Amino acid sequence: MATFRFIALEKTLERKAVEVQYPSKVSDYYGSMTFNQSVMHEYLTEEAYHAVISAIETGESIERKVTDQVASAMKAWAMAKGATHYTHWFHPLTGSTAEKHDAFINPLSNGKALEHFQGSQLIQQEPDASSFPSGGIRSTFEARGYTAWDPTSPAFILDNTLCIPTIFVSYTGESLDYKTPLLKSMAALDQAATGVCRYFDKNITKVYPTLGWEQEYFLVDEALYAARPDLVLTGKTVFGHASAKDQQLSDHYFGTINDRALAFMQDLEIEAHKLGIPLKTRHNEVAPSQFECAPMFEEVNVAVDHNQLLMHMLEKVALKHHFKVLLHEKPYAGINGSGKHNNWSMATNTGVNLLAPGKTSKDNFRFVTILANILMAVREYEELLRASVASEGNDLRLGANEAPPAVISVFLGKQVTETLDEIERMPEYKEMNGHNGHHVIKNIPKIPEILLDNTDRNRTSPFAFTGNKFEFRAVGSSANTAKPMFVLNTIVAEQMTKFKTEVDAMIENGMSKDAAIFNVVKSYIIASRDIRFEGNSYSAEWLEEAARRGLSNNRNTPDALPTFISEKSVSLFEKHHVLNRTELEARYEIKLEKYIKKIQIEARVLGDLAINHILPTAIQYQNRLIENAKGLQDVLDSKTYVQLSRNQLNTIKEISEHVAEIKEKVTELIEARKKANVLEDLTKKAVVYRDTVLSRFADIRGHVDKLELLVDDNLWPLPKYRELLFIK
Ligand code: ADP
Ligand code: MG
Repeated sequence: MATFRFIALEKTLERKAVEVQYPSKVSDYYGSMTFNQSVMHEYLTEEAYHAVISAIETGESIERKVTDQVASAMKAWAMAKGATHYTHWFHPLTGSTAEKHDAFINPLSNGKALEHFQGSQLIQQEPDASSFPSGGIRSTFEARGYTAWDPTSPAFILDNTLCIPTIFVSYTGESLDYKTPLLKSMAALDQAATGVCRYFDKNITKVYPTLGWEQEYFLVDEALYAARPDLVLTGKTVFGHASAKDQQLSDHYFGTINDRALAFMQDLEIEAHKLGIPLKTRHNEVAPSQFECAPMFEEVNVAVDHNQLLMHMLEKVALKHHFKVLLHEKPYAGINGSGKHNNWSMATNTGVNLLAPGKTSKDNFRFVTILANILMAVREYEELLRASVASEGNDLRLGANEAPPAVISVFLGKQVTETLDEIERMPEYKEMNGHNGHHVIKNIPKIPEILLDNTDRNRTSPFAFTGNKFEFRAVGSSANTAKPMFVLNTIVAEQMTKFKTEVDAMIENGMSKDAAIFNVVKSYIIASRDIRFEGNSYSAEWLEEAARRGLSNNRNTPDALPTFISEKSVSLFEKHHVLNRTELEARYEIKLEKYIKKIQIEARVLGDLAINHILPTAIQYQNRLIENAKGLQDVLDSKTYVQLSRNQLNTIKEISEHVAEIKEKVTELIEARKKANVLEDLTKKAVVYRDTVLSRFADIRGHVDKLELLVDDNLWPLPKYRELLFIK
């Protein structure tokens, strides 16, 4: 009987690229499924339109009569596009998105029905949310949670359903989602950064962070995926010997895209563009069957929503092409895993990118001021930034010579480094006779734009300046990227608040504004030196050097997370009204629980597969060898038999050893889990899971992968790496 593996392999041979139909030219359908500003202009009265736009810009709430108008406009627009249902769309702490669809339809007493959607339904809903993680904030008997409309992120239509982006908070007001702290961090950053920017330009009244993410993922044929229970249940392979060839030749990176994958990407782009996700880039990544897509950057909140939506669309569109998308950070051992680079900057209402060096010394003065603040923020809160990307999957990637280490450092490139060095060498700015007030500014070195365009790239740095933005590279591919973003926004807000206080105090003491700014900037450049590193972050020397500098190196999630609930962190987030102690502690618990559960599931899958798939196969093959050896014994004289059967007997012995080891190690794994499961304290439980459960995986896998090489290929039940990784 053909095994599941061979049925799957046969199916993949029949696959052809699905033909992609472009509806028309992209500009015709771009954003057609979003309730964007141009649709609002068309559907709303002038007054209502301006009320919404101003709410988006200022964050003020919208009057009831306006929300009624917006709701009825949304309903009319959505129905014209074929929508029958609406839903509040939010990001609970599970990490994915949530939706509960309600029909527009309302029955009437005359037996007919009418579509109905009011302002009150737009602005607030009360889903029964008792099954979402809340970290103990909301016990099950108080199941109420509220979702509330976020007008800054456009509503959209997906599967005939009008989706309204919302925040999600508990009955008592604590946030239960990713969006709420993100929006609050943006407000904090706006306030702090605007204050600093106004030293340079009084026209600046608003600063907002921008994000351009790069999403990596793997594609695998759906039939092969279905034949790998580990992929189905954990998103990664728990076994699999390396393919003879994988990424050694670097022939996949930026290579010609395979037909089936290309058709998938084209389809994905069409769907993403309809939803207003500005996808621009697509290419092959380093590992075989690994790919990346990236949009134009947007304001952070919208970019995060678009990333969540894109991850959903990846999975949805893949099905049409008989693919499964793997968003796990490390689906295959031995080859690169997937990340999500976060390109982050800040923009002003005057259209300035605050991380773009200017053309004049004056602009560069502003640029180095912003830069020095970011350096200080990262220096001060490097551990928190590291914690913001901690997850079980990402632990397998950080520091594995394919992604940055767990040590956070900043790369600036030669040009910018030289500029900061020059500032360091400049004398302390002193007020002389009031004349040379502009002198220092004139001396701020200009950073040639052309050189910045080809900034020396350092692919090993976790936080790299890339010409006009920072690229935070340690984020995991499956993460809701709101988390690293709200942490980054908040630490920079905190630093800029401190900066302004220091500068204002000096001004009050009679120093000129420029002198005060210069002196504080210079002191920051010196004080933050330790966070800067221009060399190879993958090297062992750097880890030693980083330790000497006192930088944290929290290699895994249980080590990384506690900093979130430290006093320093609680006071930071409370001060900026991003999260309070209860919320932070709840999130900490949820994260730990998720970590524990993921390892628990993986341990079960690993144990089951080893016992039910691998061992019976190995024993079957072993019996065959034994039969064969017996047969030889019957037909050969004993001297020849001893000579010829040596190899055969050795293989039988080798298989027996692996089988015995696997059996024993899986039993130990189960015992370890039992012991860990009775622990009440989550912090401790996570550590015990890491040290006694997770730590046993590699050994078991080693034996299974050895068996894969010994056992007849025809019997092996699981699709092999060489089959999973090379798309036909
Ligand atoms: P790569 O890093 O792969 O070379 P690019 O540097 O071209 O790619 O850009 C990567 C991402 O950076 C894109 O999503 C782009 O939109 C984004 N990006 C460019 N400028 C900014 C900015 N000012 N703020 C945030 N993201 C930006
Ligand atoms: Mg990049």
